[in-house]
Amino acid sequence: MTDVIESVAFRCPHCKRVYLSKRGAVIHAEQCFFNPERRSCFTCKPTGDQQDILRFCANGVDMSLYWCSVCGDEIDYYEGACEKHPNAKPLNGLRVQCDKWEVPA
Ligand SMILES: [Zn+2]
Ligand SMILES: [Zn+2]
Repeated sequence: MTDVIESVAFRCPHCKRVYLSKRGAVIHAEQCFFNPERRSCFTCKPTGDQQDILRFCANGVDMSLYWCSVCGDEIDYYEGACEKHPNAKPLNGLRVQCDKWEVPA
């Protein structure tokens, strides 16, 4: 049997992702959509009235729009990127740093 080498891994405290470098795990954890500081849809507990569920979330965010994955600003899909974060990929159906985000109970 081939011998293998045991190695330490670092896990994101917000999701189950595992990294071999601590630095990699920290970089991920700061951006993780499950990090409450990111105020993303994944950690939001919507309290608003449910509107048109095909387009709006319960807090009134238009889910058909595109959002910067760093700052959550709206992105014109044809412009393709946020002015402040040109390397951030546009998110559709998921917003971060949302002003409508509700603190989980
Ligand atoms: Zn994570
Ligand atoms: Zn941005």
